[in-house]
Amino acid sequence: MVVSADAAAANSAVTGGPGAVNSSLNAVPATRRKLSGRYALSDFTVERTLGTGSFGRVHLVRSRHNMRFYAVKVLRKEQVVRMKQVEHTNSERAVLEVVRHPFLVNLWGTFSDPTFLFMVMDFVPGGELFTLLRKSQRFPHPVAKFYAAEVALAIDYLHQNGFVYRDLKPENILLAADGHLKITDFGFAKYVPDVTWTLCGTPDYLAPEIVSSKGYNKSVDWWALGVLLFEMLAGHPPFFTEDGNPIKLYEKIIQCKVRYPPYFEPAAKDLLKNLLTADLSKRFGNLHRGSKDIFGHLWFAEVDWDRLYRREIPAPYLPTVATDGDASQFERYPENDLAEYNMHDLPDMYGGLFPDF
Ligand code: AMP
Repeated sequence: MVVSADAAAANSAVTGGPGAVNSSLNAVPATRRKLSGRYALSDFTVERTLGTGSFGRVHLVRSRHNMRFYAVKVLRKEQVVRMKQVEHTNSERAVLEVVRHPFLVNLWGTFSDPTFLFMVMDFVPGGELFTLLRKSQRFPHPVAKFYAAEVALAIDYLHQNGFVYRDLKPENILLAADGHLKITDFGFAKYVPDVTWTLCGTPDYLAPEIVSSKGYNKSVDWWALGVLLFEMLAGHPPFFTEDGNPIKLYEKIIQCKVRYPPYFEPAAKDLLKNLLTADLSKRFGNLHRGSKDIFGHLWFAEVDWDRLYRREIPAPYLPTVATDGDASQFERYPENDLAEYNMHDLPDMYGGLFPDF
């Protein structure tokens, strides 16, 4: 469940988008890249559905030009409008347009037809960290440390560029073929130079300052990193209710009482206590040393952050990916009727709301 109460190609010849022959991963600071926007669905063959989100679905597609595989997220404009997600959707595109990082999914371009919006991204074939975690029940400390460290680098990069992510959870963390992470779903990501108030995110991962409708900033992502790390180590989130009642859940989050299992390493527990604190003047990531308090924490002492950034630290788990377009790590979803895409004769009621697609 996702809550939201807001009302509110790359130059493919150079970088190897779906229209080009070669590709390269190039980590650079966030600058506005020119997305070609010249794609159309006819550039691709649609293979199958990889996942469904609250506002649309994600397909595995293959470029007819370079035969490579991509993921295309499709949003129905009418649904985006009805669910008051126009600003979020435009913000998702705007953030993805400028970010480039080894642990963030890459957006190659966007396009639209009268009914739908399309976002062409890297296909990340290893499936969701969520699936791996549920299968493993919980991760050994070194495994959780590896994933938490890669996530921390990605979140820090977003923050350095003025963005807050706001939807960190194992469902939004995908595994690349080499086992390194790619964060996807920027539906709640936003440029927040100072403070924002929108209630959005996923209940288990909401920070106390969001639940209690205070203004908040990037500190919510460090809280969510704490929830994620706890969930990876324990196999369940730190705050939950048996009956799934969100009001009771929110009370627990505000009270912020966490029961740490005895098998948590003392240093892991110490880091978690500093992330899962409702007191913003104490939360790591939010203090005057910023993210250095996290990167420099004892529990991460053996992490070589530069090598980690360069993906030189071998991943703890290699997903079984037989061929480039192998999507066997993703659950099957009922397929939709592809004929509904590209109906260019239909009136476009909402086109003006999504000028950049
Ligand atoms: P989203 O609506 O962005 O949350 O995406 C819904 C689901 O589609 C995700 O939880 C993933 O399982 C899948 N998905 C999203 N983006 C990608 C991608 N780039 N590569 C592979 N699967 C993806």
